[in-house]
Amino acid sequence: MHLVLKRSAIKHHRLAATLLLMALMVYHSALADEEAPWRYNAPSRAEHLATLDPKYALCSAGEQQSPINIEHAVLADLPPLQVRYFRGPATVRHNGHTLEVRTDLKGELRLGNKVYEFEQLHFHTPSGEQIQGQIYPLSAHLVHRDKKGTLAVIAIQFKKGKENSSLAQLLGVMPRHKGDAYVLGQLDVERFFPAQRHYYTYREGLPVPPCTERVRWHILKTPVEVSEEQIVAFQLMFPIDPQPIEPVIKHAVRVSG
Ligand SMILES: [Zn+2]
Repeated sequence: MHLVLKRSAIKHHRLAATLLLMALMVYHSALADEEAPWRYNAPSRAEHLATLDPKYALCSAGEQQSPINIEHAVLADLPPLQVRYFRGPATVRHNGHTLEVRTDLKGELRLGNKVYEFEQLHFHTPSGEQIQGQIYPLSAHLVHRDKKGTLAVIAIQFKKGKENSSLAQLLGVMPRHKGDAYVLGQLDVERFFPAQRHYYTYREGLPVPPCTERVRWHILKTPVEVSEEQIVAFQLMFPIDPQPIEPVIKHAVRVSG
């Protein structure tokens, strides 16, 4: 009886140990799922394009393009940025790198006689663009595409200041995990814009075929404001990775106004 008890006690002990081990393994893998740290790894322009559309995926395998620092720009008679976004529901998605927003009713950008349909907006921290060496803590990229597939991106810089009410709307529903999305009842994309809309512009070619399309960049000269708390809230979800210092590429930059 004693032996039986002992055996059963050992068996019990082994079972308990096995169960504990299994529980630990489950816990550990749950932790790994939950807390698997993904890095922001600020994408290069080519990688950035690859995230916009699967057909650009090959572009990310090509030459790495550097962030731009606008030191000089030629004053030019450029068409005004005429934007029209329709106020309505918007989907706010955690795409694994950043917060991406698509609106149901879309909208458009007109530049002279060219028309680009609004596709999505997303954020970068810190800004990929520098203006005379100044890096902003946050920038928004509004991506538009014409019928031929040419992209026109408007970049809005955020400087530290008072709370940004449009960003507050997005942060209020910020999805916590990759792939998660929330639908906002009403979003007015135009409220992200500053009153003054002069811009720097340049074209950037994609590296190699099939990346033959060009992107027109429009970097607004006037930043908008964002509060310190909002920057912190955004960076808690999408941490900054220190970017390597890359050489500044020379572009023919033009500026309006
Ligand atoms: Zn971007």
